[in-house]
Amino acid sequence: MFCPFCSHSETKVNDSRLVAEGNQVRRRRECLACGERFTSFESAELMMPRVIKSDGSREPFNEEKLRSGLMRALEKRPVSLEGVEAVLSRIKSALRATGEPELKSLELGELVMNELRILDEVAYVRFASVYRSFQDIDEFKREIDSMGKNNRKRAAKKPAASQSK
Ligand SMILES: [Zn+2]
Repeated sequence: MFCPFCSHSETKVNDSRLVAEGNQVRRRRECLACGERFTSFESAELMMPRVIKSDGSREPFNEEKLRSGLMRALEKRPVSLEGVEAVLSRIKSALRATGEPELKSLELGELVMNELRILDEVAYVRFASVYRSFQDIDEFKREIDSMGKNNRKRAAKKPAASQSK
């Protein structure tokens, strides 16, 4: 971040807070050369590390994709939307906290699994069993989709008595 007054490249951050529903970070900065203070608005998305997929390609961190992956794993589980959002925001904080520009999708998966393990055992097992073998959210989603279909088939075959407990 360059100082708008003297173009010096080193500034000190005095205050940092999320604004615009967490999409931006507002920072109060102070130039280390001329001492002028100014405010910067930075995209929170830009601070998220990019994800290195198993084939070596990079893609931006996709919150929507992660959210739908979590929702799939948590399908029919007793977990509130607030619980899902809390997990998402903890994962995002952890990603920003790494300070790394990139991370492997495998590492992201481990992070998600650690959070799910605390949140809901069944969702954790669903996510882990698939994610460990595919290491790719897209494949994971396809797999969970087909698991959902199989579960529904199985549930339909069950005698009514076993579902009433
Ligand atoms: Zn300056």
